[in-house]
Amino acid sequence: QWIYLNGEFVNKEDAKISVYDHGFLYGDGIFEGIRVYEGNIFKCKEHLDRLYDGAKSIMLEIPLSYDEMQQALIEAVKKNEIKNGYIRLVISRGTGDLGLDPRRCPVANVIIIVEQLSIYSEEDYLNGVKIVSVSTRRNIPDALNPKIKSLNYLNNVLVKIQANLAGVGEALMLNSDGFVSEGSGDNIFIVKDGMITTPPSYIGALEGITRAAIMDICKQVGYVVKEEPFTLHDVYVADEVFLTGTAAEVIATREVDGRIIGEGKAGPITMHLLKEFRKIVNKDGVQ
Ligand code: PLP
Repeated sequence: QWIYLNGEFVNKEDAKISVYDHGFLYGDGIFEGIRVYEGNIFKCKEHLDRLYDGAKSIMLEIPLSYDEMQQALIEAVKKNEIKNGYIRLVISRGTGDLGLDPRRCPVANVIIIVEQLSIYSEEDYLNGVKIVSVSTRRNIPDALNPKIKSLNYLNNVLVKIQANLAGVGEALMLNSDGFVSEGSGDNIFIVKDGMITTPPSYIGALEGITRAAIMDICKQVGYVVKEEPFTLHDVYVADEVFLTGTAAEVIATREVDGRIIGEGKAGPITMHLLKEFRKIVNKDGVQ
């Protein structure tokens, strides 16, 4: 396995960075998770847009131009001979000293890892997964804007720990007003009486690229899709609930906090959207 590390491809064993890296010391950096389908980098532009926007917002200078970054991703996929897999792109503030000051980090560290992906089984897509809501909050006012996919994922790790304790794979965070925001690594949609709703990102959710793709598909196939805040009650009484994310694609949830959703398996709209999504994954990419 070849890791892209600051302009060079090195063996996984040799891919090392300093303990003074501020991504390590402070979670100072940003990242992207991107899918490769049949050798195509899915929604490459959207991922790079989110990356460069996040970098601008936290004043992190990425040492590669947008085109150079795209080229590096393409090369990393080719070099690892991955047809269907996952790219993790990590940009940390770089190596500095023990102080917080980012001026001590002259140049960002850029890392690209390409791997096979372990994904949900086809049964999971058909049956749906169980999820729970957790006490970890997605707090907007005092936290980093969730639009930035930063290396500060401790909140999400806490959600994952609570999911593990509950014996499920994913869990829902609420924001401090009690509105449902998102999972540890997925956005949420609910379906009620044929109407599809997802929380607006301002209540505290990442603007997921899969989420956007699903909203586009909804419009194309004629479903009504809205961005509106909702509560756990709305989730419990929904006809269908599904999660979206780069790794999960579109996965139904059959149970939330012990409440069976709809028929207790993936509903027709979820399955339709998954089918339509899988039609575009091979087309919509760069290679
Ligand atoms: N929400 C969070 C917190 C995430 O980390 C992710 C994963 O990237 C998502 C949502 C889903 O976003 P995307 O569809 O861009 O993978």
